[in-house]
Amino acid sequence: MTEKTRNVLSSDETAVFTAMDAGLSPKEISVKLSKEDGYIRKTQSRIRKKIDKELKRAANMLRLQFSDNDIMRDQGILKCFDWVNNTYVFLVFTPMMGILAYYTHDCSNNCEDTCKETLDLIRSERGVRVNDKIRSLPNKIQYEHVFEAIRKQKG
Ligand SMILES: [Zn+2]
Repeated sequence: MTEKTRNVLSSDETAVFTAMDAGLSPKEISVKLSKEDGYIRKTQSRIRKKIDKELKRAANMLRLQFSDNDIMRDQGILKCFDWVNNTYVFLVFTPMMGILAYYTHDCSNNCEDTCKETLDLIRSERGVRVNDKIRSLPNKIQYEHVFEAIRKQKG
């Protein structure tokens, strides 16, 4: 992770993105942030463009296969395929850390802790809450729950 991938969004854009993640409508966001409706919509479209660009850049850098239809701009997720490792890869946009990549796999003792840390980072960055029952499941299943939760968040 380089410094360049961080702070892709301005502080205003981060506030709007976080509110989008919480499922607020543009109108609700404008009230919450005391900004004009039009300003919020313009900011949202700017955020979508930036996220689109970042996701594509990361996917190309990691040599992952994807189609434009796979890019979920509002949710900041891109599901790709890695032919080298023969596995699906989820790229997740986070406001502070830039793009985080998760390669679908069953964790071994070597990666278990690191994968859990990344998972917790995605959760906190994207405001995803899960219950203790899910938290006790293997990482791979937890990741599925987190991506599913992000997918359901509205823009
Ligand atoms: Zn792992």
